[in-house]
Amino acid sequence: MEITTRTIGELHELLESKAISATELAQGFLARIESVDPEIKAFITVTKKTALEQAKAVDEKLARGEKLGALEGIPMALKDNLCTEGIRTTCSSKILDNFIPPYNATVTDKLKDAGAVLLGKLNMDEFAMGSSTENSGFFATRNPWDLERVPGGSSGGSVAAVAADQAVFTLGSDTGGSIRQPAAFCGVVGLKPTYGLVSRYGLIAYASSLDQIGPVTKTVADNAWVLNAIAGHDAKDSTSVSLAKPDYTRSLTEDIRGLRIGVPQEYFGQGMDPQVETVLREAIRTYESLGAIVEECSLPHTEYAMPAYYLIATAEASSNLARYDGVRYGHRTESPEDILSMFCKTRAEGFGSEVKRRIMLGTYALSAGYYDAYYLKAQKARTLIVRDFDQAFEKYDVLLSPTTPTTAFRIGEKSSDPLTMYLSDVCTVPINLAGIPALSMPAGFVDGLPVGMQLMGKHFAEGTLYKAGYAFEKNTSFHTVKPSLSQGGAK
Ligand code: GLN
Repeated sequence: MEITTRTIGELHELLESKAISATELAQGFLARIESVDPEIKAFITVTKKTALEQAKAVDEKLARGEKLGALEGIPMALKDNLCTEGIRTTCSSKILDNFIPPYNATVTDKLKDAGAVLLGKLNMDEFAMGSSTENSGFFATRNPWDLERVPGGSSGGSVAAVAADQAVFTLGSDTGGSIRQPAAFCGVVGLKPTYGLVSRYGLIAYASSLDQIGPVTKTVADNAWVLNAIAGHDAKDSTSVSLAKPDYTRSLTEDIRGLRIGVPQEYFGQGMDPQVETVLREAIRTYESLGAIVEECSLPHTEYAMPAYYLIATAEASSNLARYDGVRYGHRTESPEDILSMFCKTRAEGFGSEVKRRIMLGTYALSAGYYDAYYLKAQKARTLIVRDFDQAFEKYDVLLSPTTPTTAFRIGEKSSDPLTMYLSDVCTVPINLAGIPALSMPAGFVDGLPVGMQLMGKHFAEGTLYKAGYAFEKNTSFHTVKPSLSQGGAK
């Protein structure tokens, strides 16, 4: 078995028993990146020097006979919207092409303190706006299961890297589905934590009331290990919640008898591939056979989630992205005639077309005279969606749905029609509007492409999601199937 296919738990044992050194492990992953990334294109920056230095520190610790923490020596990578001190952080945008942050995001610091080894920074849709990673200002990332298809987005690099065994785990960010939708497309596990559980300090903002950082991993257990390391209160993020932090790995028990699972009928609606539905119905039967109580239920305001999301997300983005003006950092145009043209030209040159589209949409929705009709209406719809979930969770511990209505689409298939692209997030955006946690995990295949199952829980019920996910994973083998790329060349 290749070392790069292993889980956090397996690698931890190999390191502690000195069967492998942290340096050998880091070198193994760097070699894997070198061999497959020219095809996958998950990485914007590979931080070889940092990785080897961090691995060396872990080896020194091992040599002193000290015990290792769960993530110590484990090679990982970060989405390129997470600030890394002294390491280029682009958000996949030309406007931040030359940006080298003077500080770390809180999650970067937490993983550093946990001893994880940083392999590099990962491609994404520019400013996390997109569902395919085709909106990157640099290049598109490919799906390891089929190089002609998208990996999903916006965390396409984070997810493709895990699926192609280029990192043990990665972090992504999820504003409307950007961890879960690509996790579904690439057959890995991705969690969008409860809003406020993981500090957003140092995450380059897209839509601040929706953004959350979360782990992308090969297994549910790995996901819990990473969440343990990154969750927790942070004084630098005023929306970060101060709660006693559980040990999420304690939720990894197989007994789910009596677990109440609701299946919202609205998530099996129009645009859904019938073969994807078949996979999900089979997953439901698996849960029933494990003793869960499964029932159809309704989230009646689901149809308003998409329009509400695209108004709120773009409104917040238009405000967040006002700071990129060429004055303080990032790209500045070469030939400004005056200060106004400096702002305008800098932004015209620096932002891609999807980002511009969203700034315009958001500015329009917030403008005097339209605010009540659009933004305020969207916020009211958001409240109805929150109530739908509150009511459902009075009756159910977990809600279950497909993560996406289809499997991964072809590169270029949806790029000329933003509306059909937006629809690939129809099952994921309501979760961000409600601020609840949701986990996507492998549930089967359609024509050789992975299908994702989404498990949703009430606020701060990540443990319940891990429990439900772990039981499913232990009783199925979808997570063990690898894209043929791992055997040296994709199909
Ligand atoms: N695809 C959605 C969008 O384009 C979600 C993106 C995200 O979660 N960052 O806004």
